[in-house]
Amino acid sequence: MLLHRARVINLDLYDVIIIGAGAAGLMCALTAGQRGKRVLLLDHLDRAGAKILISGGGRCNFTNLEGGLAERYISANPHFAKSALGRYTPADFIALVEAHGIAWHEKTLGQLFCDGSARQVVAMLEAECAKGRVETRLLTRVTAITKADERFRVEIPGAAFEAPSLVIATGGPSIPKMGATGFAYEVARQFGLKVVEPRPALVPLTLGADDRLFESLSGVSLEVVASLGKARFREAALFTHRGLSGPAILQISSYWRHGDSLLLDLLPGTDAPAVLTEAKRARPKAEPRTILRERVPDRLADVLADRLALSGPLVTHKDAVLIAAGQRLNGWAFTPNGSEGFAKAEVTIGGVATDGLEQRGLVAKRVPGLHFIGEAVDVTGWLGGYNFQWAWASGKAAGEAV
Ligand SMILES: Cc1cc2nc3c(=O)[nH]c(=O)nc-3n(C[C@H](O)[C@H](O)[C@H](O)COP(=O)(O)OP(=O)(O)OC[C@H]3O[C@@H](n4cnc5c(N)ncnc54)[C@H](O)[C@@H]3O)c2cc1C
Repeated sequence: MLLHRARVINLDLYDVIIIGAGAAGLMCALTAGQRGKRVLLLDHLDRAGAKILISGGGRCNFTNLEGGLAERYISANPHFAKSALGRYTPADFIALVEAHGIAWHEKTLGQLFCDGSARQVVAMLEAECAKGRVETRLLTRVTAITKADERFRVEIPGAAFEAPSLVIATGGPSIPKMGATGFAYEVARQFGLKVVEPRPALVPLTLGADDRLFESLSGVSLEVVASLGKARFREAALFTHRGLSGPAILQISSYWRHGDSLLLDLLPGTDAPAVLTEAKRARPKAEPRTILRERVPDRLADVLADRLALSGPLVTHKDAVLIAAGQRLNGWAFTPNGSEGFAKAEVTIGGVATDGLEQRGLVAKRVPGLHFIGEAVDVTGWLGGYNFQWAWASGKAAGEAV
């Protein structure tokens, strides 16, 4: 597709062409434009910042107070993101937001949201692009990209543009119905860069026949600790008719691979074996489900008591049985049979391999002038504003380097 060349009518010259007017592309464009570069920003949708508009339930969780910590990002090279994140911090983005009079608040765990609407963030970025005289072309389909004589040539039906710098900011394939594509990977491969296998992340997980019992809990949520290997998140989990969702599950999904089991501590901060054995002494006639109902939603307590075969008064159960049941409550193993896929994934994990890119300006080591930024790159943040912080920081880094 990228090599198909249409008959060209016009040829325009720029300092930099940016493909993808999302979070990273807009930040890159405004940075380069305000440095006096002649910038062309292209997108195939009819508006810029489409994902920003729907993010954070319409209020855009635009950064996280801990968004500068590289350990909050997943990548084959965990050090790669440090340079860009260190040079454009959450405080820098907050300063921009405040300069535009956008009111914000911290919701939880350092997550910053607009008080009003995500539209304010897009309007802010567009205003900053206008200050840098960025030329934006929407509804534009790129048909070919080539490089000759130190210039990239980008063709669209009926026209072509050339520039010594080309920035690919087309994100990942999560939520294709919003125009998301794997375009960045095609360009990377065309120019000889590797791509780390893209997988859906921050995505609900589905459960198989063994866990059918939990289907009846659709809509029940509770605070849990979800863990898998060294990853551990204490947040809400939600049972759905297909499996598990909620922030704790979305977070752990980024670490999950087919065949893995994850553990849910359903009584976080509580020594469940001790709770059950002490309750047996204090209230021997009480049913285990009654004790559970005091700590988790009733419907869940009933399903758990059934799964643990804990019927009848506590006194009828041996301590060893109660201890084993408590241990399961503190670490219930689920083996998802899949995820809800790119259709429901907030982000894509994997992407353009960082070993082919310079940390500083995210430029391809072997293809001078070709940059990859944002979600297209193999850097994926936790839930909670980290992905936008990476988009801003990597966009800024490339905008300063072009
Ligand atoms: C529902 C939802 C809610 C989210 N909420 C948050 C949140 O609150 N906080 C947070 O930090 N992150 C959130 N995210 C993740 C965040 O939106 C992304 O990580 C971020 O937008 C990535 O920025 P980007 O610029 O790299 O890619 P994108 O924002 O996806 O931008 C890519 C752009 O490239 C364009 N494009 C794609 N293919 C082509 C092509 N072939 N030709 C031309 N243009 C193309 C797209 O139209 C798009 O405008 C959310 C994601 C989703 C789906």
